[in-house]
Formats: sequence, C-alpha cells, structure tokens
Amino acid sequence: MKEKNNFIDQIDQVSAKTLSCINPISGKTIKSISISTKEEINRKITSACEASKIWKEIPIIERSRLIKKAQKEIVSKKDELIELAISETGKTEFDGIIEILTTLEIMRFNRKMASRALASEVRPLGLIMKNKRGKVHYRPYGVVGAISPWNYPLIQPAILVVPALLAGNGVVLKPSEFSPLTALKMKEIFDEVGIPEDLFQIVIGDGEVGKVLVESSSIKLIAFTGSVKVGRKIAINCAEQLKPVILELGGKDPMIVLKDANLKRAARAAVWSGFHNAGQTCISVERIYVDENVADDFIQLVKDLTNLVSYGKGPNFSDIGSISTKSQFEKITSLLQDAIDKGATIDNHNINNNNDSLFFQPLVITDSDDTMKIMKEEIFGPVIVISKVRNEKEAIKKANSMNFGLNASIFTRNKKKARLLAKNIEAGNIIINDVETNYFCVDVPFGGIKHSGIGRLHGIEGLRSFSQIQSVVEDRFGFNKELWWFPVAGITKKIFRAIIQILYG
Ligand code: NAD
Repeated sequence: MKEKNNFIDQIDQVSAKTLSCINPISGKTIKSISISTKEEINRKITSACEASKIWKEIPIIERSRLIKKAQKEIVSKKDELIELAISETGKTEFDGIIEILTTLEIMRFNRKMASRALASEVRPLGLIMKNKRGKVHYRPYGVVGAISPWNYPLIQPAILVVPALLAGNGVVLKPSEFSPLTALKMKEIFDEVGIPEDLFQIVIGDGEVGKVLVESSSIKLIAFTGSVKVGRKIAINCAEQLKPVILELGGKDPMIVLKDANLKRAARAAVWSGFHNAGQTCISVERIYVDENVADDFIQLVKDLTNLVSYGKGPNFSDIGSISTKSQFEKITSLLQDAIDKGATIDNHNINNNNDSLFFQPLVITDSDDTMKIMKEEIFGPVIVISKVRNEKEAIKKANSMNFGLNASIFTRNKKKARLLAKNIEAGNIIINDVETNYFCVDVPFGGIKHSGIGRLHGIEGLRSFSQIQSVVEDRFGFNKELWWFPVAGITKKIFRAIIQILYG
C-alpha cells in the first residue's frame, strides 16, 4: 500500500479489511467501516433470497405503504442525510438539498405508480383464439444486485433499490467505496420503518465486492450505475451467465444552441449544468454546439457567468463544491493538460489548482479540436467545451459523433423545429430549452442508448425493469379436443384454408 503522505493521498485508499470514509474537503477520516468478506456477502445474499420469498407475496399496496413511511422518515432526517452526503462527497449544501429532493420524488413516484405499473394485464388474443384467455404478469426476479457510483450517494442507491423492492424483489446493494455512509443511513431508515432487514442488505467494498454480487448465481438481475468501462465488464460477466442487466452508464452530453435561442437562458443553463455538483453529474452538459451567427455573444455570456461562479472553501464560496475523489481530480487535470498540449487556451487557469484541496476551478474551452481527449472522453468535472457550427445539420452530426447517448439539450425559440431535431439526436433523453430537469421528471423513463446504457429507470418502464414478464394463456371452455390435435379431420383442413384466405389474404 502507498505511504500516506498527505490527505489527498489517503483518499482512494482502501485497506484490506477496513474502508476509510474520507471527507474530500477536510481530508479527515469520517469513519472506518469493515469491508464485507466473501462469506458475509454470500450470507447476506442468502438471507435476502429467503426474505424475498415472503416479500413477493405481500400486496404491492403494503410494500408502497412501507416506502411511504421511509419517505417520511427521510424528510424528518433530511438535515443529517444532507450533512452526511456533503461530508463524503464534498458537495455544496444546495447540491445536498437537491439530492434529498430528487430521492423523495423518486420514492413518491414509484410507490404511487407501482400498483398500476405492475398490475397483471388481460390481453385480447385476436380473432382465432377466442376460446383462450391471455394475461401478462410482472413477477419479481428474486434478489437484485444493485451497484452504485459515488456522485449522488443517496439518489443513486435509491433509484435502484426503491423500484426493485416495490417490484417484490430482495436487494443487495453495493454503494461506491467512496460514499457508502449515506447509503448505510438509508438502510438504517428502511429498517426502522419496517422494511424487513434481511430483504434489503448492504455490502461494503470496491469492485471486488461488486464482482461477488455479479458472479453470484443467487442474484438474478444486476442493476448497475457507473462508468462505461466497468459497465462493459459487468455486461460481459453477466452475458456468460445469461444474467439480465440494467446499465446506467456515462455520458458526454451535447447542448445545441440555435441562432434563434434565448441566449441568456441558454448560457445560464450551460453554466449551471456544466458546473453544479462540480460537474460530477452523468447528464451534465459537457459539449456545446452553438450556431456561428450567435456564437460570439453566447461564448461571452458563458464566460462572464463563469467568472461569477464561486468555488472553494468558506461562506463566500457556495456555488461549486469539491471534486469527490483524488482519482477523479487527476483525471480532469490530465484531460485538461492534454488539451493544453494540443493547443487549447485556458484563460486565468492554474491547472493544478490548489494542491491542498480537491476544489477545481470551473472552466470554459472554446478552441478545442477533435484530437483532444477532452472531446472524446467523459470529463466528469467542471469543464465545458464550446464549438461553433455552421447550422443545425452540423450540430446534430457533431452531437451524434460519439459512442455516448445519454442526455442532450436543444435551445431554440422554435419548438416545432426542436421536436423535429430531437428525432435525429442519438440520445436516450432529450430536453428542450432546459438542462437536466428531465431527471426530476420521474414519470418519463430515463436511460441511455449506444454506450450510455441498457434498460430504463423512472416511469412505469423503470418499475417493469425490475420484473420478469410472464404470460399465462388458459383454455376457457375445456372441450375434449382442439381442432388441430390428432386426428386432424378433413373438414379442419378446409376450415384452416378458408381462415388463411379470409383473415390474412
Ligand atoms: P465506476 O464504474 O468506477 O464504479 C461504479 C460502481 O461499480 C462502484 O460501486 C464500484 O465499486 C463498482 N465496481 C467497480 N468495478 C466493478 C466490477 N468489476 N464489478 C462490479 N462492480 C464494480 O463509476 P464511478 O466512478 O463510481 O461513477 C462515475 C460514473 O458513473 C460516470 O461515468 C458517470 O457518468 C456514471 N453515472 C451514470 C449515471 C446514469 O444514470 N447513467 C448516474 C450517475 C453516474
């Protein structure tokens, strides 16, 4: 293990048996917690399996009632949860408040929608099969393995755990090794309100612990939120076992600004989306394509607004919090250095920031080119890159030029045109004249296409993602024989020939 020289070096380090949860702003250890052993993980999976057998028989309305109790408890413990989320990620108070609000909205929507989304449906069976009845059921998987990232330590666990439980599953959650404390507090709250302790379990550790969940034959579905790199590994592992996966992965989200856009609104949106939560949001705006006719005005507005954004410690620095992990800080720095080496100019920037902290100055780059890594990789930090385009056709081409396809935003006063452009943008989620708010609009499904993910959260689709579809067709009348069973009569052949002609000819 590396020697611990200063607090930054301590961040990201995990000892063999315990995990030090470190405040990225102070560098101090908040708490040391035990890393789950393989035996412990398997024990937790087994008890979640047993508990899920009872849970799945409990009516959805009762499951929803317990989630409502947990929701109310989160409201009463909001200050504690906000403090915890801030302490383990370095986010600002307002980012902490948004974290709680979004989690509550996810809980409200899912518990209200579960009965409807997961109700069995009768399906009409066409003209020929009038003597059968068809039904579709949404059955739980059993135990879901949920694996979450560090950037939103309450939202990210909740968005997987809540719909999974409501759909009748047990859950074993592995929160990020960089922010497990908020998830542990969530578990405590769920236990207190009567959600069976064995049903929802937490295991602690890094990717090795995550791998145990992925590889367990008792885990029937993996719900993963994180990077494309790890998502791909998990997908390969699950493919070998033919285990279903939900993958909510990274993005490099484009914003398109047309010449008729409300430039002030677009600039404010860009600055907020690029920089809030220190840019560590999967759907933050990273690339902006602006019509060359208005580009200079737009760039000036963005730069002016960026200069007003505060970052760092203390009461006057309230806009942007700290980068949450040292490795993330280093990644942003190295992407910037690569851009500078390849000719990007960055005004007034000390690339290494302040070595004593993980605060990162928000930045705007306006002279990038496609050879720079910053144009190819997710930055996940407070940096936005603005490029001029000749027209909307070029903007769409550039927006679609990457393997990512998570969120995209379009700014124009012509809503009809925006809706038409949306059809041609390769992204799972589009937002018009706004940024990121669609994540809070939990009635509509959320997820990525291309390398940004597989499957959907939010909406009825999200609840159904945690269910296996089972169809049941039953005979209605119980005659002794169907026409097509042996022996097939001559008249049957004639009837069937007539059916083919009449129904399908
Ligand atoms: P990460 O992929 O490094 O880690 C995510 C989780 O996977 C962690 O809990 C980690 O311990 C675990 N893990 C690592 N290796 C594993 C393995 N081999 N098997 C099983 N589990 C393993 O991601 P991160 O750095 O924690 O989070 C940042 C990434 O998450 C960004 O790319 C961001 O865009 C993405 N993200 C996506 C969404 C979304 O909804 N699409 C939301 C939030 C974050």
